[in-house]
Amino acid sequence: MQMLGMTTTHSQAALRRVSFYREGRLPVEGLEAWTGPVVDRSVEKLLLAFANAETIDVAQSIPEKDFSLREESKRALAAYIGDTTVDINFEQRTIVHRCSTWAGSSLEQKFCSHILKLFLSINPERARAVLVLIRSNLNSWKFESRLAVEFPT
Ligand SMILES: [Zn+2]
Repeated sequence: MQMLGMTTTHSQAALRRVSFYREGRLPVEGLEAWTGPVVDRSVEKLLLAFANAETIDVAQSIPEKDFSLREESKRALAAYIGDTTVDINFEQRTIVHRCSTWAGSSLEQKFCSHILKLFLSINPERARAVLVLIRSNLNSWKFESRLAVEFPT
């Protein structure tokens, strides 16, 4: 009987430990796991000046395999996304891209999901800096609806 009692005590202690780890310790790991999304959230906030939340959701659902960064320099940011291209040129202050949404949204200086995908994929600090730069001087930026480069064949 005593053995049985000890076993029960152990089990209960083990159970308590499990719930302790579940409720007490995991938040530390959870906090680390949140660092990324928190940084991305600040990019998302800036993106809301250029697009609505639904379009940002669409951008986030574009698979990583469809995104390929072509250039990331002081002069330019450029990428292949799906079957189109995005080219941001800081010297000429142009965003050059072509898709059916952009054909309309570029006239209102709003982003489509492809442009959003670029900002969501690059280093969040760079993304923030670029978005602040564009927003603070929006009138001098040209949003152009065309393909900047030919696709490699
Ligand atoms: Zn687009």
